[in-house]
Amino acid sequence: MAGKKIAIGVDFGATKIMAAALDKKLNILSRVKIRTKAERGPKDTAERMASLAREAATSAGFDLDDIGYVGVGAPGPLNPEEGVILSAPNLGWEKVPLKKMLEADLKVPVVVDNDVNMGTYGEYVAGAAKGKMLVVGIFPGSGIGGGIIIDGKVIHGASGAAGEVGHIIVDPGGALCGCGRRGCVETVASRIAIARDIIAAGIRGQSPYVMEHFGTNMQKLKSSSIAEAIAAGDKVVEQIVRYAARMVGLAASDICNTLSPDCVVLGGGLVEAMPDLFLKEVYKGIQDFTMPAISPYVEVAVAQLGDDAVAVGAAENARIFLKEE
Ligand SMILES: [Zn+2]
Repeated sequence: MAGKKIAIGVDFGATKIMAAALDKKLNILSRVKIRTKAERGPKDTAERMASLAREAATSAGFDLDDIGYVGVGAPGPLNPEEGVILSAPNLGWEKVPLKKMLEADLKVPVVVDNDVNMGTYGEYVAGAAKGKMLVVGIFPGSGIGGGIIIDGKVIHGASGAAGEVGHIIVDPGGALCGCGRRGCVETVASRIAIARDIIAAGIRGQSPYVMEHFGTNMQKLKSSSIAEAIAAGDKVVEQIVRYAARMVGLAASDICNTLSPDCVVLGGGLVEAMPDLFLKEVYKGIQDFTMPAISPYVEVAVAQLGDDAVAVGAAENARIFLKEE
């Protein structure tokens, strides 16, 4: 970013896109947001994303010439070297060269990487996992995303798609997963899986608060509604969520036994709504299922950057990728 003053970090999600302007110390100078509207197609979305990046700069009081580079965290699987989204089922997109499209529009270098990798990286550079050696990020929400960082490097693996923690199998032959296999931890512990079990309990008469306030509509049962039902005394709902969190710990223990991380960082909608419950149960799950030689070294922490994590991680990742100062 020689001579340039700011970087732009973009969090490209299925429902909204957020762009932030950051200075060289990763302080956020502005944040701007739009709805994604991916159904309008990649070209329209890329154009609006480029406009949003410009707006982030101007609303921080800078000119477009001040932008050094842009980092984007996008849904995957994707090819981070070429910045191509290979297939994003929740956008309905396949083989979209997002990096090229944005560079043609913005005339600055753009780096695109997986959104959960970037969220994990953001926590590593400026949040709950700052300065750790080996970081595993787990983000339970409507699915379960993950990211792995070793000695400061985001791990992509041979396929580019490393870190898919949500698809560790904890229940062979269990429920069908979005990936086409059965029994992934996502089918047991994502918000959708938890909502499914809570609604089944409601039909049996075991979650009265949920039935009264949210009914059997899975869409209405957001992470905050689940937290609300537990606070209101729905005991079976609490049991369901505690079990789900413990299963996240079971999945995490497979990675702990393999890689021996010093930090597992938890984020995402469910964790934001119920941080204490998730921290405690995931920690217990890891302690129960990880080898005694390894488990004492694993710290479990709740993400600190919230909605900023992906933008911060994407901006810093772009700096490293482009070998900027
Ligand atoms: Zn799966």
